[in-house]
Parts: sequence; structure tokens; C-alpha cells
Amino acid sequence: MIPIIKPTLDEAEAEAARRVILSGWVTQGPEVAAFESEFATFTGASHATAVSNCTTALHLALLVAGVKPGDEVVTVSHSYIATANAVAYCGATPIFVDIDPATYNIDPALIEQALSARTSAILVVHQMGLPCDMAAVAGIAKAKGLPLIEDAACASGSELLWDDQWEKIGKVHGDVACFSFHPRKILSTGDGGMLTTKHAAWDAKFKMLRQHGMSVPDTVRHGSAQVIFETHPVLGYNYRMTDIQAAVGREQLKRLPGIVARRRVLASRYVELLGDAQWLGLVREPSYARTNWQSFCVRLPDAADQRAVMQAMLDAGVATRRGIMCAHREDFYASQPLCMPLPESEAAQDHTIVLPLYPQMTDEDQQKVASNLIEATRL
Ligand SMILES: *Cc1c(COP(=O)(O)O)cnc(C)c1O
Repeated sequence: MIPIIKPTLDEAEAEAARRVILSGWVTQGPEVAAFESEFATFTGASHATAVSNCTTALHLALLVAGVKPGDEVVTVSHSYIATANAVAYCGATPIFVDIDPATYNIDPALIEQALSARTSAILVVHQMGLPCDMAAVAGIAKAKGLPLIEDAACASGSELLWDDQWEKIGKVHGDVACFSFHPRKILSTGDGGMLTTKHAAWDAKFKMLRQHGMSVPDTVRHGSAQVIFETHPVLGYNYRMTDIQAAVGREQLKRLPGIVARRRVLASRYVELLGDAQWLGLVREPSYARTNWQSFCVRLPDAADQRAVMQAMLDAGVATRRGIMCAHREDFYASQPLCMPLPESEAAQDHTIVLPLYPQMTDEDQQKVASNLIEATRL
């Protein structure tokens, strides 16, 4: 059986977790601080805050950007539901913009018509690891004076061409970027998340809000020779990452460049193997983006039955996943009026599948995936 993904975790991560477990300090502490600083260095961001997952990262990003009940946040429906849910947690309404079918990312040309007097932020997604057209989106955000948040859940190690330089996603090309370390993404701490930002004041708020709104971090209280009484001046949350997770994350971060390089080789091999099957639609990187290929997505011919193709591949020992979901088709959002039709988002959900991709894959594995896909979709 060829699975959809395999996490790259071994003795190094196990040893890191063991070291923390035996150290006497297991929750957010020195390992979290070290992971934050290393992640900031890796992305080129000035500040990083580790949290429990990307959904909580998005919630904090929106809150600190000033999103309040009754506001609107312009985003995509075509994303994992956590993107829209984080907006709803703030009491705000996600306003869904359609995607560009070539990249599965927000279509910047459609953003203006989604803006209203109630819009308080723009939340873009680097879907499946492919950076969205940040230059276009940032231009709009700047012109309208709106904060720009990046859902970079899938985009650890992806790169963006910015002022003629390749920069890491997370260097922060908007105001704040949010990452996921769930095992379905390519750097994993079991569960986990990270916010990077260029604003020192925002970073300080993230660090306070993730820890119950507490005025002093417990590492400071613990290390102080004076008795410290903490206060809780704002409504906070428990969105902490543990030191056990952070120690695993530090090992994963060391591997990340190698993992991304390997995924890029595997993705080009898929392009070779599937190149002759002209009825399949493959993603081409736009000139401004280098993806980490968190997901390798293929568009099936319109006439193909997505479920039948996936079943035929499963029967042949190849796991696949349906393309990215649409939040507006789920019950919680279905009754909300749309500001525009979303034909490309819906078509992407209905006519794409995601192929297995993980560093341990052999060429034989890839040939098996490709030949079964061609077989299952040939008309
Ligand atoms: C996975 C994912 C999330 C949620 O990440 P968690 O760490 O599981 O909370 C949010 N947005 C996108 C685009 C994702 O792919």
C-alpha cells in the first residue's frame, strides 16, 4: 500500500523528546523559545511565536489584527475549514472569493468586489504549499489599509520571489503568517503551529494571549529570585505548544531543506511520468513561486468520476485524497449568502485528487501511482 504521506521522524526526534521528558520542564519553556528563534532565522522573520496548532495561530492573528464581532474577512472557501472557522471564532464573517484554477489560490482580480465597509482583514492561503500571488494581494491590502494575514499552514519551506529575491514564506510579506505542524504537513510536531510577524507589538500580544493573557511568562516567574504575582489583564487562551513538541520541531526544522529538495525532485518526476497523459491537469509553478509540493494535485477530466478513480487506485494499493474542500458547501456556512459565485472553487473540489508524495518514495512507487492514475482516467 502506498500511503498519501509518511512523516519523516526517527531517532533524532525520539531522542529530542526523551531529553525534554527527562529534563524536568515539559511545557512551554526553553525548547519553545529556541524553536521560535530557529524558525524565525529559517524564514527570515523578525519574530516568531509557537502555538498549539495553525487554527489557534489563525485565531490569534485575526484577533490581534483587530477583527471583531460583526466584521468581515475576505478569504477563500477553497481551503481546509480551519481557515473560515478562525474567522468565525472572532464573531466575524468569512467573505469567500473564488480561486484561480491554474494555482488553486485566491484570484486577486476578484478581491475588490468582495470588500465592504465592514472588511477588517484579508486572509490568504498558500494552498497545498504553493505561494499565492502576494505582490498583487499586498498591493490591494496596502491601498485599502487592511491587515494581510497569510494562512501558510502547508507552506513551510516554500519560497516567493519578492523584489527580485527568493524569500521564504514566513519572512512575512503581509503582517503575519501562520504555519501548521500537523503530520499531514511537511514539518511535524504531532500537532503544532507558529506565527511569524514583522510587528514587535503584535508578537508580544501573541505571546500573552497564548498563555491565558498572563502578564509574565511562567519561565520568568520560575527563574526569578523575587516573588512575582502575575496578573491577567486581557481575555487569554491556552494555545501553548509543549517543550516536547518544540524539541521535535527543532529536529524537523534541520531536515526541512532536505525534505523540500526531495519533494521537488519527486514532483518533477511525476510531471515526467504524467506528461503524456494530456487529459490530466498538472500545476505549473508561476514565475513568482517555488512550492514545497505539500500536496501534488491533479485535475481529472470533467467526465471522470472522482470517487471511482480514487477507488480504482485504492484497489490497486495507492491511497489518494480528494482535492481541497470548500467551506461554503459545509452546513455551518451553507446558509450564508455568497458575495460571488464560486465555480472554480467547486470545480477544483469535484475534479481534483492529491497523489502520494513523501521523501521515502521510490521511483517504483511513483511509476505505480502514475500508471494506475493513467489507467483509471484514460477515456
Ligand atoms: C491544515 C490546515 C489548517 C489547520 O492546521 P492545524 O494545525 O491542523 O490547525 C489551516 N489551514 C490550512 C490551509 C490547512 O491546510
